[in-house]
Amino acid sequence: MEMEWEQGSMEALQRTVRRVWDRVPLTRSKMEKAGVTPDDIKRPEDLRRLPFTTKQDMRDAYPTGLLACDRRELVRYHASSGTTGKPTVVAYTKNDIASWTECMANCLETAGVTADDTFQVILGYGLFTGALGFHYGAEALGAAVVPTGGGFTERQLLLMEDLGTSVLTSTPSYALHLAEIIRERNLRDKFPLRMVILGGEAWSEAMRERIEKELEVIAIDSYGLSEIIGPGVAMECGHRNGLHLNSRHFLCEIIDPVTGEVLPDGEEGELVITTITKEAMPLVRYRTRDLTRIIPEPCPCGRTGVRLARVKGRSDDMIIIRGVNVFPSQVEALLDRIPGLSLNYQLEITEKDYLKELTVHCESEATLDAEASAKLARLASKKLNEGLGIRVGFSLLAPAALERSTGKAVRIKKAA
Ligand SMILES: [Zn+2]
Repeated sequence: MEMEWEQGSMEALQRTVRRVWDRVPLTRSKMEKAGVTPDDIKRPEDLRRLPFTTKQDMRDAYPTGLLACDRRELVRYHASSGTTGKPTVVAYTKNDIASWTECMANCLETAGVTADDTFQVILGYGLFTGALGFHYGAEALGAAVVPTGGGFTERQLLLMEDLGTSVLTSTPSYALHLAEIIRERNLRDKFPLRMVILGGEAWSEAMRERIEKELEVIAIDSYGLSEIIGPGVAMECGHRNGLHLNSRHFLCEIIDPVTGEVLPDGEEGELVITTITKEAMPLVRYRTRDLTRIIPEPCPCGRTGVRLARVKGRSDDMIIIRGVNVFPSQVEALLDRIPGLSLNYQLEITEKDYLKELTVHCESEATLDAEASAKLARLASKKLNEGLGIRVGFSLLAPAALERSTGKAVRIKKAA
């Protein structure tokens, strides 16, 4: 398969490979084991000769074993929360911050954000990369940033109204939460909101349709991860049919998650990213564990380069129930098709006689009497069993029964 790269990408890859070879012992020893040196990287297809970098490598190198620059050159650290043990630390030089800002500004421009927008950042500021990435990018584009951070819904609404917020960024679940309150209080006419940019958790087309309808906006999907740079890796354009990769900074491949073989364009697999402009922590063939595919057809917007399908889920989020793979986003799409259910849900996994059982807890949209509740629960149970091809439990909850999260929604609850 002939790979199409942007002009300059090959040289940038060679510089990156040389940099990690010279400065990162862990990556160098992996390359030596794989029998490849920087001089072997001559053509795009040589990329696949390089060894993968994994989340485990980042854990083993905690905190800064993958650093490829002098410590004096660092200007910023970020970290992602580890679900087990220590966080993953990432570091940036001055040039890395400039590249990140450029990536983010490109992405926001792709989405359709302009200097005329008032841009509210409803993401946590701090170690997490999300908020500062959007913040710098929107400022670079000339938009007026409102850095409200996460939570404090009353204040979010007040500032949206008083400052005239036209674009906001949050997680999909928080956008849905805002939409509910805005509908209840009839606030929609109070602000010129036209676009929401969502990311940070896997979401479905069904969720997009709901948010777009309830908030009367367009909802744009964004993709990024702190190990690579933060948000700003890829973003949808106004056509909302796949994410345009920031190809000047990143190369991507789709691999079979089991064999590690590179898959042809169009086939679904695990996304692998190589950074080609980073200085502090360049990553070669980083396994993101996110499942997606490359969309081979060109986008009607005319942008060329790699376009990625919506991330279906993190391979870690995949639940295997009696041999069947189930993703939270699949359950979400099924719940959406059942009239009367909200998209506020949680999946619970329990184990009985060494077998995993899945129970879906979902809120109804309105308060129902016992008879209507029982009827809706029976219907939901039937539709889920048919749609997933396995038997799952279902419990109907009253509206607002689940805790609302201002960060990532807790979709999977593992029983103690
Ligand atoms: Zn496009």
